[in-house]
Amino acid sequence: NLILAFESSCDETSVAVVEDGSQVLANVVATQIKSHQRFGGVVPEVASRHHIEQITYCVKEALATAEVSYEDLTAVAVTQGPGLVGALLIGVAAAKAIAYAHDLPLVPVNHMAGHIYAARFVAPLEFPAIALLVSGGHTQLVYMESRNSFQIIGETRDDAAGEAYDKVGRVMKMAYPAGKEIDQLAQTGQDTFNFPRAMVNEDNYDFSFSGLKSAFINTVHHANQIGEELNQADLATSFQNSVVDVLTQKTMKALANFPVKQLILAGGVAANSGLRQSLDEHLKSFPDVKLVKAPLKYCGDNAAMIGAAGYVAYEEGVRAGLDLNANPGLEFDWYPDMEM
Ligand code: ATP
Ligand code: MG
Ligand code: FE
Repeated sequence: NLILAFESSCDETSVAVVEDGSQVLANVVATQIKSHQRFGGVVPEVASRHHIEQITYCVKEALATAEVSYEDLTAVAVTQGPGLVGALLIGVAAAKAIAYAHDLPLVPVNHMAGHIYAARFVAPLEFPAIALLVSGGHTQLVYMESRNSFQIIGETRDDAAGEAYDKVGRVMKMAYPAGKEIDQLAQTGQDTFNFPRAMVNEDNYDFSFSGLKSAFINTVHHANQIGEELNQADLATSFQNSVVDVLTQKTMKALANFPVKQLILAGGVAANSGLRQSLDEHLKSFPDVKLVKAPLKYCGDNAAMIGAAGYVAYEEGVRAGLDLNANPGLEFDWYPDMEM
């Protein structure tokens, strides 16, 4: 089984060739970050334009790297949503064109399912499982009874974890996206600010990061007003400790109540060193649960993960016609847009 996969939900144009949902033969990622940095975030129109310019090159390069031709392919998989509608449409249009031209099945994939399936490149996924899904737009605990069932048991009520990193980074005058830079700085400081840990004692699996973000911004603004220099590394460590603490505690609460075989860590923020370390340590209390962390290079947006999720969808019989449309608000059901 060879899947040609497309991802264009945000600011990465990516095309991959994945074998049997587990082997990455090629994963071409054209990032646009430089074009968005001066705006401090992703500009949708700029993103669409870049996707159009890049996608054909990405396909050519992916096929060349994988040393396969269209005739070798089993199916074409594409991110249907969630994401920016104009950006998604480019990937969907490209995937449809190739599926049509080469008479290949078209498989729509949920971007967040893709993030989870990035963990498949480390180990076969075993169910039931819980996924801690932390990215730029989402922070969710997802219970998976089987490989194609996604039940959100908790999620953020305001900002996503990655969003909080990026907003705080802006106040620290870092380039967008700031997650990685804060993570690196956080390794050199101390937790001296003791920022709030929202909702940790509440009996649910939900998160909130806007209070932490406000506390952080108020602290920095206040210091600026009175002309006080704050230790940047300590700020970063304090912020990161708060985020990691909350994510860890809520995840442990979920593990205590849902017997699962695996805990899957995925999404852009899954690259966070503090989070990876914290889960490693806390999982010692759950010797029967195996922690499967998405590989660092597949945490951020990429098409390889769409190929891995697309393989499962393909096996489940999920197909789309040439009337497939992008769905910017695609829910986490198993492809609700599809008639199966
Ligand atoms: P979504 O997947 O929810 O649609 P997205 O695709 O924009 O959103 P991702 O690409 O999965 O998000 O992740 C990007 C986010 O990950 C950014 O907010 C970035 O700052 C954050 N991030 C990347 N590396 C790290 C890190 N080491 N520590 C913390 N955050 C990080
Ligand atoms: Mg991105
Ligand atoms: Fe993403």
